[in-house]
Amino acid sequence: MSQVIIYNLDGELLGTVTLKHAIKMLYRQVAQVHESVPGEMYGPYPRPRAVMLLHYVYARWRWERKGRVPYSKQGVMRRDRHRCAYCEKPATTVDHVIPRCQGGSTDWLNVVAACERCNCAKGGLTPDQAGIALRHLPFVPVFTDIWGR
Ligand SMILES: [Zn+2]
Repeated sequence: MSQVIIYNLDGELLGTVTLKHAIKMLYRQVAQVHESVPGEMYGPYPRPRAVMLLHYVYARWRWERKGRVPYSKQGVMRRDRHRCAYCEKPATTVDHVIPRCQGGSTDWLNVVAACERCNCAKGGLTPDQAGIALRHLPFVPVFTDIWGR
């Protein structure tokens, strides 16, 4: 009942906060009332049902704060600059370094960008078993590794 909707400057829905928090945002002038409850006041303000930020906030802020980016296949491609981790040719796919059939997990440290040729050659084998080597070790990227360039 006392939750207030927050909109980004461009109208994108960002989430909700408590009424108290929303009033603080109005007071600090980081937001303005977007939609109010007719006829109801909360202190000097019309009681907000929704507020809109006065400055644009990147929805990615949650990642920036944590510094860590959630795993994604697209993220792996960006981290590895769309280059195959085994031969550095343009990558079109991703490869599990330790294959799933051998218990490999799907996360930043076990997935690399790969070209189809290396991916096929490797199949269900580890790099050692397949006789190919990683050019660089996979790492957990921070926000700027993925989106900051
Ligand atoms: Zn390759």
